[in-house]
Amino acid sequence: MTEVILCKYGEVVLKGLNKSWFEGMMLRELKRRLEKHGRFEVRAAQSTVSCTPLDADADFESAYEDVKKVFGFVAISRAAAVEKDMGAIAECCRAYLPQFLEGKKTFKVEGKRADKRFPLNSMQLSAELGGEILSACPWLRVDVHEPDVTVRVEIREERAFIHAGQEKGAGGMPVGSNGKAMLLLSGGIDSPVAGYMMARRGVKIEALHFESFPYTSERAREKVLELARIMTGYTGPMTVHVISLTHIQEELRDNCDEAYFTLLLRRFMVRLANRAAARFKCQALCTGESLGQVASQTMAALNVTDAIADRVVFRPLIGMDKNDIVEISRRIGTFETSILPYEDCCTVFTPRHPKTKPEIEKVEAQEALVDVEALCREAM
Ligand code: ATP
Ligand code: MG
Repeated sequence: MTEVILCKYGEVVLKGLNKSWFEGMMLRELKRRLEKHGRFEVRAAQSTVSCTPLDADADFESAYEDVKKVFGFVAISRAAAVEKDMGAIAECCRAYLPQFLEGKKTFKVEGKRADKRFPLNSMQLSAELGGEILSACPWLRVDVHEPDVTVRVEIREERAFIHAGQEKGAGGMPVGSNGKAMLLLSGGIDSPVAGYMMARRGVKIEALHFESFPYTSERAREKVLELARIMTGYTGPMTVHVISLTHIQEELRDNCDEAYFTLLLRRFMVRLANRAAARFKCQALCTGESLGQVASQTMAALNVTDAIADRVVFRPLIGMDKNDIVEISRRIGTFETSILPYEDCCTVFTPRHPKTKPEIEKVEAQEALVDVEALCREAM
């Protein structure tokens, strides 16, 4: 018996679309993740991928945790792999399963015979192994309707897999299957979550951070890089580009009406993001904006910033409550870093009374007071 990790594809990934293209992407990503945990054999068959450790140095536990972060798989389980022999399978049920059944009251067995040459059909298999489990775990009862645990026995082409329960996988689609976006990554709670959500839809993420040194510190930048590092656990490798807004902010301070600072700055961010996206071949921008959260995220303000974008802007958090965003942030592990109290360029020269219902003509008139093109070129 060998313990393996089983990963199940989401149905969505396989329906109608180009199955082998998706499958290739998911397997490549899975192998890349497994590499740092030791030598594993990765084999795909019938919407299931098995990851088998090849030697004692392979770290099964850490690999299992990491595999739960690979987009495209809906369910992950640890399973015993044995030869397709009823004696071996029964022995495995007695030896391997009890550790997962302790503290449970009821169970059922779901046999699945993908290899039709196997002498027992699915019903016979379930009945036979149910008996084995009852004698090994006398505290259990069978409940076919609402069991605490479902034991699955899958007779496949090369081996049989036995497991008790599965966990949710990362879901979504393999990263890279849906183009590439430039994420505006601040040090806050929202933008890392926004990037995670688009990555889960198969979007490869490239990040852009704005700083205003010396008004913002080296530590503020380090924090953003750390957030990006945490995100790569899901998104795969990511480049973070950093642009300085210092001169732009000083020009706005010296020449424009204070009430428009935030909006003008956000339009500069979008202009620079347009250019960075073009240079690094991203078809979209992505931000962590959520409707009404702050003055720059009212509908009128969003219209003013959106007007300057030259490609689609993804705002996956637009309709979400802060609480829900925080919950995701905790789950993906960025929260504790996000709340470190370092300054952000948006908090430099913040207006006391920002415009919440800006008119685009007035914004443009303010903008005409600085040399937009020269400032953008310099910042790039
Ligand atoms: P976050 O928690 O992501 O910082 P926020 O609630 O603080 O968001 P804003 O500061 O208005 O909201 O920023 C809205 C969005 O603009 C952010 O989610 C992010 O995508 C982008 N953004 C803001 N500041 C920066 C920055 N310094 N660098 C890059 N992008 C930024
Ligand atoms: Mg912010």
